[in-house]
Amino acid sequence: MRGERKIRTRFAPSPTGYLHIGNARTALFNFLFARHHNGSFILRIEDTDRQRSTLEFEKSIFKNLKWLGIDWDKSPGAEYLYRQSERLDIYFNLAEKLLKEGKAYRCYCTEERLHELRKKQMSMGMPPRYDGKCRSLAEEAKDTHYVVRFRVPEKTIILEDMVHKKIIFDSRLFGDFIIINSDGIATYNFAAVIDDSMMEITHVIRGDDHLPNTPRQILLFEALGLKLPKYAHIPLILGNDSSPISKRHGSASIMELQAEGFLPEAIINHLCHLGWSPGREFFSIKEAIEMFSIEKLSRSPSVFDIERLRKFNIKYIEKSDTDELIRMSRHYFSKDIPEERLKTLIEASKSEVTTLRDLPHILKPFLKEPVIEEDAMKVIAEPCAKKVLEALMEEVVEETSLTDSVYPDIIKRLKGMTGEKGKNLFMPIRAALTGMTKGLGLEKVFHLLGKEEVLKRVRKALAINTFFLP
Ligand code: GLU
Repeated sequence: MRGERKIRTRFAPSPTGYLHIGNARTALFNFLFARHHNGSFILRIEDTDRQRSTLEFEKSIFKNLKWLGIDWDKSPGAEYLYRQSERLDIYFNLAEKLLKEGKAYRCYCTEERLHELRKKQMSMGMPPRYDGKCRSLAEEAKDTHYVVRFRVPEKTIILEDMVHKKIIFDSRLFGDFIIINSDGIATYNFAAVIDDSMMEITHVIRGDDHLPNTPRQILLFEALGLKLPKYAHIPLILGNDSSPISKRHGSASIMELQAEGFLPEAIINHLCHLGWSPGREFFSIKEAIEMFSIEKLSRSPSVFDIERLRKFNIKYIEKSDTDELIRMSRHYFSKDIPEERLKTLIEASKSEVTTLRDLPHILKPFLKEPVIEEDAMKVIAEPCAKKVLEALMEEVVEETSLTDSVYPDIIKRLKGMTGEKGKNLFMPIRAALTGMTKGLGLEKVFHLLGKEEVLKRVRKALAINTFFLP
């Protein structure tokens, strides 16, 4: 498109915590939008809060984004990313410019005065805001302890939001706000505006919680004579009890979801459904890029539903390449297990687990001789177990090997021989062979254990049965 700027979006996390569902969705939508339009997606670290920002959080955010498959481009004029703490001079100098132009002023009010002012305004039912006491003080700085406030012009601000459409704000409702703190460090609104401009950001997609900042940022863009990006504010994510998503609703951080055995594809899919209607249930990140459109973003809050995520995870694990699943779950298994054996085991179980973390549990009986769990022990000790296991022994001895195809025949014959069916027939077999009462389909159990191991475990179970029922 001739004359139009190349689309450029950004994700601007504050490294004061781990990447969670909410900001991962913001990153994802900015990424999808940029990639859909062949634009760039860049990363900016908003670490001006020096007390709460840490390098550890910063690193974990990079790691989680990469794990999710969200990659970013080089920032213009920066090697890898923008880090606001390295740009403090730029913000300070632009604040000086606004001071010279009379668009900002130094404010010497003490914390105590501001506190009293807030208290008084609130007791009168008014919104707390700065009363402009230092607005018309003489220019010269008389004290080194001051903040720089933006002189808010009285006006109506119209935001043409891409999601909410037109929103009108009245600047009289907010007082002159701080752009440089008393430690010389720019505030979020000031630094964000300067960076959005210098990074040539064309579209800002962010949560509705930033809506109160947007009119302030628009005023700053205007005062600095900078070009405004387009805004799209996306609704908050709620838990299934309609309150904003938090730890109470289960794992809200990407790191925890990864540790719980969710696949990045499943998380991406669920995030896509939070506020966007892709019109399809299952898709890859590549397909999401093709389908993404801001027009399809919703204005109403969306619900993070861990059960829905589980449902997606089941599907994505089932569809995943086994080698890929081994790569992601190798740490659950001992190094001694040969790769080929692990591949057979994971291949057999990938359609029967919800998360990767279920794999070591469901595969336990095939990795070493199982310790018989309590409920399985009860099943083995029942009188009908003896009949079923003895019949099974007779049948298996006759087979040369336990391929998948012999299983239905063995079961059919066992029904005839014992007169048992359903739970009474299957439970003793499962309990004897796996030491558990739940797990992989019995057909797979037979196949994965093989004839000799099946016979060995049945013999052991019969001995236990005899011990309980001599
Ligand atoms: N650092 C802000 C946050 O984490 C980003 C705000 C923005 O996108 O402008 O919420």
